[in-house]
Amino acid sequence: MSAPTDPNPTGSRSPRLTVVSGPTAVGKGTVVAALRRAHPEIFVSVSATTRAPRPGEVDGDHYLFVSEAEFDRLIADDELLEWAVVHGRHRYGTPRGPVLAAIEAGREAVLEIDLQGARQVRQRWPDAYLVFLAPPSWDELVRRLVGRGTETEEERTRRLDTATRELAAESEFDTTVVNRDVGRAVADLVALLGL
Ligand code: 5GP
Repeated sequence: MSAPTDPNPTGSRSPRLTVVSGPTAVGKGTVVAALRRAHPEIFVSVSATTRAPRPGEVDGDHYLFVSEAEFDRLIADDELLEWAVVHGRHRYGTPRGPVLAAIEAGREAVLEIDLQGARQVRQRWPDAYLVFLAPPSWDELVRRLVGRGTETEEERTRRLDTATRELAAESEFDTTVVNRDVGRAVADLVALLGL
């Protein structure tokens, strides 16, 4: 895995759209939440999703929890910058308007989305900067994915296949940040964003 490279060596550029993506269970959500706490001036997109809220999740803060019909409308009205069915179940997408407004207002914008979404952003927003959040090692990813080992052999095989495919996507990204611990991963992202 390559070390992060400085995308902004002169220290001057316009605000940018940065996508943080990576394999399932690598800790994307935790890292981006910590980045947002450390740098509230960054705009972190709130995704729309058709999945139900988990205990403690707040509508409009963690996600915009919408019905299937409302998600259909968002797609039909071209209000999503990207969207995908994640883990074969629910739909998740990035509302376009707030991202554009943040960038126009001079803020750095960050999306935390899955690999399918990152690929769509690459196509539709060629200037976006794509960061691959990687696990410290294959063994660690397996530990995080397979967890307590309570799943069936079939489920375990499926998850390991997914991890293999997801890790292979690293070469499609502009840079890699290794999530050894949250603090270090946030510090690497802050440096990449030029904050
Ligand atoms: P969870 O349901 O556990 O909060 O999130 C599941 C997955 O959905 C995570 O891998 C997360 O990166 C992804 N995700 C969250 N929001 C979006 C989005 O707007 N677009 C895409 N493509 N993926 C998303």
